[in-house]
Amino acid sequence: MKFSDLGLAEEIVRAVTEYGYITPTPIQAQAIPAVLSGGDLMAGAQTGTGKTAGFVLPILQRLTNKDAKGPAAGRAPIRTLILTPTRELAAQVEESVRTYGKHTKLNSMAIFGGVSINPQIQRLKSRVDILVATPGRLLDHVQQKTLDLSQVQILVLDEADRMLDMGFIKDIKKILALLPKQRQNLLFSATFSDEIKTLADGLLNNPALIEVARRNATADNIAQKVYEVNREQKHQVLSHLIKTRQWYQVLVFTRTKHGANRLVEQLGKDGIAALAIHGNKSQGARTRALSEFKTGKLQVLVATDIAARGIDISELPHVVNYELPNIAEDYIHRIGRTGRAGAEGEAISLVCVDELEFLKGIERLIKRSLPREVIPDFEPDPNARAQPIQLRSQGHQPGGQRGRGQPRSANSAARPGGAPAKPKARPGGEIAGGRPVGGHHSGGRHR
Ligand code: AMP
Repeated sequence: MKFSDLGLAEEIVRAVTEYGYITPTPIQAQAIPAVLSGGDLMAGAQTGTGKTAGFVLPILQRLTNKDAKGPAAGRAPIRTLILTPTRELAAQVEESVRTYGKHTKLNSMAIFGGVSINPQIQRLKSRVDILVATPGRLLDHVQQKTLDLSQVQILVLDEADRMLDMGFIKDIKKILALLPKQRQNLLFSATFSDEIKTLADGLLNNPALIEVARRNATADNIAQKVYEVNREQKHQVLSHLIKTRQWYQVLVFTRTKHGANRLVEQLGKDGIAALAIHGNKSQGARTRALSEFKTGKLQVLVATDIAARGIDISELPHVVNYELPNIAEDYIHRIGRTGRAGAEGEAISLVCVDELEFLKGIERLIKRSLPREVIPDFEPDPNARAQPIQLRSQGHQPGGQRGRGQPRSANSAARPGGAPAKPKARPGGEIAGGRPVGGHHSGGRHR
């Protein structure tokens, strides 16, 4: 199968070929003809499968086929709207649009929060065919009347499960109400909860269904391992692994922003260059850290789940779960950063006694048990007892309202007064006061 077999125009095939793609990935082989046919699509695909090109390439083609309406110069209608959960993903998807569309005359733009709105308003005055946006900032523009969505022909919800997890459902509904009724809808999601199904039922009209990797399964080309360690020794273990195995580029996940900052400090003391990206960092700091990491200048990037969502770092060799996520699906998203597009990757989890419940939830979700090992000189204390886990960063307002883009898990798992919530599986598969750990088990959230 070649890109030219998929019915794509010459200028689009040329752009991907120049970019170095030789054959379409499975999601591309299926999604491209489906989108070209003009119908709705529901696709189960996680990051790393090539899903972005799976929708961007046929969209470019469809927009090239039709002449833009409106004035030849100046403000032309936005004909495609791509919604993403995070700024990073918005920026990345828009970069893909520009890369793949470089031989077309189409214009694209990304809008997201965390940066000044004024340059975006200026840019929106010129021609934008494809807009990539996070829901919150998009609605800010709508409110300021700096954006017209009345001519949108194609809507994409990218990482729809993430958007719901981050509390964007209301914003999404508001945005849907602003779009023309007649349009093509494409929904991409790594997991399928009942909520996603409800959203899809209301949004999609007789959609083509495509699913690449097995639902909620992790990629086969990722070697996954659990190292059982003592709670207090995690950072020594990580430094030891980085040094003895000569890891030159490693993405490390922590559960909280505070944990990310502390780990960066500890690694620094061990002589390992690390930076953190999380929601408390400015957009500029996040972009800088990411670009230094991508170019290999920075050895270790420490990230929280939200900040890392959708980050595309090709052929990332190592992902470390310094702390296991309390939401099992996040494990799949985290390790999806490695072993991308066919490359081999390694995902290591440092697990202490406190996290065994989380580990069980993850293993239930991915339907396999992860091999456990111990590292000589860092054997865990067999008599250690589990302690409650702090599920949110310290210094956060307890009991605060969940705002736009705030993950439901972080706040709902926290108890008023700042007392750490002990993650405890209920019969329904839920963390006490939170949301399901494993999702599909007993609670039946996944189809
Ligand atoms: P995505 O799942 O869209 O985030 O893409 C994951 C990675 O795969 C990105 O680094 C893409 O550049 C890369 N990629 C996408 N399609 C192909 C392809 N057909 N051949 C090789 N690499 C690809």
